[in-house]
Formats: sequence, structure tokens, C-alpha cells
Amino acid sequence: MVICLFFILRMTFEETGLRPEIVSAVTDLGFENPTPVQEKSIPFLLNSDQDLIAFAQTGTGKTAAFGLPILNEVDTAFNVTQAFVLCPTRELCLQISKDFESFAKNRKGLKIASVYGGENIERQIKALRKGAHVVVGTPGRVKDLINRGVMHIDEIEWLVLDEADEMLSMGFKEDLDMILSGTPQEKRSLLFSATMPKELVRIANTYMHNPYEINLGTKNKSSENVEHHYYCVRNKDRYNALKRVLDVSEDAYAIVFCRTRYETKDVADLLIQDGYMADAIHGDLSQAQREQVLKRFRNKAIQFLVATDVAARGLDIDSLTHVINFNLPDQTETYIHRSGRTGRANKFGISIAIITDREVRRIKEIEKIIGKPMILKEVPDAKMIGHKKLEYFIDKVCNATVDEKSLAEYLPSVSEKLEQFSKEELVEKIVSLELANILDYYKGSKDINVSANDRGGRGERRNGRSTNENFSRLFINLGKEQGLNAQRLMGLVNENLHGKSVEIGRIDIMKSFSFFEIDKNFDKQLIDQMDGEYFEGKRIGLEVSKEKRSGGGGGRRRNGGGGRDRRGGGDRRGGGRRR
Ligand code: AMP
Repeated sequence: MVICLFFILRMTFEETGLRPEIVSAVTDLGFENPTPVQEKSIPFLLNSDQDLIAFAQTGTGKTAAFGLPILNEVDTAFNVTQAFVLCPTRELCLQISKDFESFAKNRKGLKIASVYGGENIERQIKALRKGAHVVVGTPGRVKDLINRGVMHIDEIEWLVLDEADEMLSMGFKEDLDMILSGTPQEKRSLLFSATMPKELVRIANTYMHNPYEINLGTKNKSSENVEHHYYCVRNKDRYNALKRVLDVSEDAYAIVFCRTRYETKDVADLLIQDGYMADAIHGDLSQAQREQVLKRFRNKAIQFLVATDVAARGLDIDSLTHVINFNLPDQTETYIHRSGRTGRANKFGISIAIITDREVRRIKEIEKIIGKPMILKEVPDAKMIGHKKLEYFIDKVCNATVDEKSLAEYLPSVSEKLEQFSKEELVEKIVSLELANILDYYKGSKDINVSANDRGGRGERRNGRSTNENFSRLFINLGKEQGLNAQRLMGLVNENLHGKSVEIGRIDIMKSFSFFEIDKNFDKQLIDQMDGEYFEGKRIGLEVSKEKRSGGGGGRRRNGGGGRDRRGGGDRRGGGRRR
């Protein structure tokens, strides 16, 4: 009898060549086999002298991929800093040093120090003076400590640049050059990065020698587990679109990325006001406030974390179901970082972008880089949202656990009251109750999708009226109270149309709002650029005026008065997700 056994052979940590003290430490952590990046990098780092560039994102096990071989090789009898890991944020620095402490727990006498901004420098100086075989640090603080003469990296044997692309995008280019130029020629340089922007290629060419590349298909590429969707709407419908998307994603656990701290605050405030479990992290928060928000997000007391890219750095959560680009980032690489926060640890994730028709070309750019298509989705309408909410509700009913013993106390009186209804009537009543909120909430809501092919945009209707048919008349929610005058308005227009020579017609500056006329070939572009942005801290509302201009010059009024909810697009607020 022939028995064929097929095994999927996976390397073990013993087989990588690590010493038993290190293997036993990772076994204690529950790691059974090396991850793909560890399988490739650990034996390579233990058996060669070559530099290494590895394209790997957070969540792939990259910290152990460089940490285990380094901690394996450090000579504890030699009391100088032998390995130096540079990373972009305090959070990542703490995470790496914590991981290193666990990996090296059985290597007696091995000392690790972490140095990062936002913490008492004296404590860190003390730790360095005691001697540290391995130092993990962030660029600003490292530079400071080198300048003070307390940190010495001139004898290191290992240099790691972790999340190197992030360090560059955070503006640490000069600090990096200064720090790297103080390291010895003879050392091993390891560069870990999710993407490879041009500046990083320069750094690699300048400071690395013939590096070996480990590419797990992640170099500027999207993870296999992430699907990319986009929705095309008018700028002023962005929030409305976000809300509708969230309403059909009841179980989502997501980060909503915004471009500015104002936008972050604004979106989070609106979500909270609309009854979602949301909060924001941005640069205005103190470290304690930030940690408080992150703790609530980790505990899932917050379902949607609204964040700027900078504030979200170092945030390491493996179970995000969605990443939402409320606005696309300026750099395509940043989109890859954002979307790489979902679809981790073998889970499936969705990366969503809400765009205007002007940004369709950005989608093409991103598709080229992530190497897969982005799927155009229709912003759900009231019917779809109703069906989806009902589906969730019915699933919840079906899956509810019934504790007969505890219910015995209550059921008889409830049953008595409901006796008068048939089963069908009860179902109708329960469904009506659940749907009433949703139907009421979305009553009168419009289709806010805009064609992603037709640049004219099916949602953009030209109903502005002007004295001159070549002009479009626009309404802006800024006036004298906000410090707007004709000159500043023209400045704003020029700034947003990037120096294009655009004719501006009549300008009427009122107390809290204004009207102005602009070449109608540019009205849509200006609205896309300015609507939703900020002027002196106030969110700009810019739209084609609905007002009929009165013949007598001077007095103009805006049709419909001032009560219209600009963001609503017909969706009323206040009836969102109540918890
Ligand atoms: P990293 O990419 O270094 O941020 O690691 C992501 C997560 O994977 C961390 O929680 C690690 O503890 C975990 N991890 C790293 N290597 C392994 C492994 N070989 N087996 C299981 N989990 C691992």
C-alpha cells in the first residue's frame, strides 16, 4: 500500500538558525512559525553580510524580521551601542522596544533603550549613560541626543530604518541625512518600508551597499486582502456620502482619513451629532487626550476614528474592516499606507475613497500603483439603506440568545398584551418600527452620485442666474463678519484657481454671506476647490446661487432663506445611528 502524504512544509524558528534563547522567547509569545518576511529575512541576516531592503507593511511581522537576528547577534560582553533602529513615531518606537524586550528576555544582560520626543529627556539620557546595546529612537530626539553628545552611533554594526517612507513623508529628510552621516561605513543597513518613493531611492543609493531586496509583493502594492472601492459625488455631498456608506456597513470598524485637522474635527463632530460612535485624533490633542481616544477605539467604544495621516501614524490595529478616504491624500503613497491598515492578519478589508469627478484621474494613478482596479460603487439610496438595515436587524433577531429562565418573569404579561395580534401582524409592526426611523430619516433624499466618466457631472446643475450670460452667480457663506471684502474674495478665487486668468463680475459682500459672479466656465472648478475648505476657521459653503437677481441692482436675496442644510443634500440630520 502506498500512502501519499502531502505536507505544506513551513520553516520553524529553530531552522532559521536563531539561538535557543531567542527561539524559546518567541515560542513563549505564541509564535509557531516565522511569517513570510521573517522566513526570508532571518536566515539571510544571520548568514550574510549584505545590506537589506525589505518591502513589508506593519502587520507582516517585520519587527521580528529584523529584531530577532539583531538580538541574536548582539554581543552583551561589549558595552557599546551595536544596533540602532530609527523609526518615525513615538508609538512605533515604544512598540518596537517592547517587542525587543520580549524577544531578548532570555539573553541575560542585553540592554535596550528607547528615545523619543514628548518624554523627559533626562530619563532617556540616564538610560543611555548606563549603556545600551540596542537603541530604538525617533529622528528628532535622536538628533538632539547626538548633538548633546550623549548618544553614540559611531560604533554601530546594525542600522535599521523602519517605516522609512513614513519618516520621509513626515519631513525628517534632513534629520535622516544628519544622523546617517554619523554612522560608520562598516555596518549593515536594513531598510524596511511599505513603499519606495524617489527620495528613499536616493537614501538607499547614498547610504547602502549593494542591498539585497526582499519583496513580498508589497512594494507600492496593495495587500491581496484589500478591495478598493470609490464613490463619486459633488464636493458638498462628501459627508452625506460618508454617512450613507456607514449606514450600510453596520459592523464596520474603521478609520476615516481627512486631509486637515479642521476637516477631521468637523467630520467627527457631525458623525457624533448624527449618533455614530465616532471621535477624532488630530494634532491639536494633547498626548493624554490622544491616548484616551485611542484606548476607546481599541476597546471598540468608538467605531469610527476620524484622523489625519500624521495623527494616525504608529496606530497599530489589526482588525479594521474599512479604511475610508473622506478626501484622497495628496501623495499616492499615502493612499497605500492608509489602505494597508485594513486587510491585515489574514482578514478581508475594504478601502473606500469618496471623490469628486475632478479626481477620477487620481483613481487611475492609484490603480497603476496598487496594481489592481478600484471599483466604482453607487452611493446607497434610501431603499438600499433600508434593506441593509433591516437585514442587520433581522440577523440580530435570529441570532439573539434566549435565556428562558430570566425571561420567565416578564414573558407572561408581554404575551398577554400581544395576544391580540397574529404572527404576521407582529412581524409587520416590528419591521415598521425598525424601518420608520430610516425611512423618515432619508425621506426626500436625492441621488447624490455623479458620473465618474462624464466630467460635466450629472449631479451638477447650472441654475445660477447672472446679469451676463457668460457669468455664473455664486453664493458663499462668508461676509463682512468673517473679514471678507472684495479684494480678499478675489484673492481667494485666484488662489483656488491657481493663477488662471478668470474674469470676476459683480461682487456683493453682505454681513454674513456674499454673492459674486465668475466666468461660468470656472464655476464648477471653483466650487470643487473651495466648498468645504476653511476661511479664518469657518468651513466654506460655496454653491451656484438659486437667487433670482432683482432688476434694481443692490438688494439681492438668496432663494430659500438661510435655513438650508448645505451638507444634507436632502438628507436630514439627527436621525442617524442611535446607540
Ligand atoms: P509587526 O508587523 O512587526 O508590527 O507585527 C504584527 C503582529 O504580528 C504583532 O502583533 C506580532 O506580535 C505578531 N507576529 C510577529 N511575528 C509573528 C509570528 N511569527 N507568528 C505570529 N505572530 C507574529
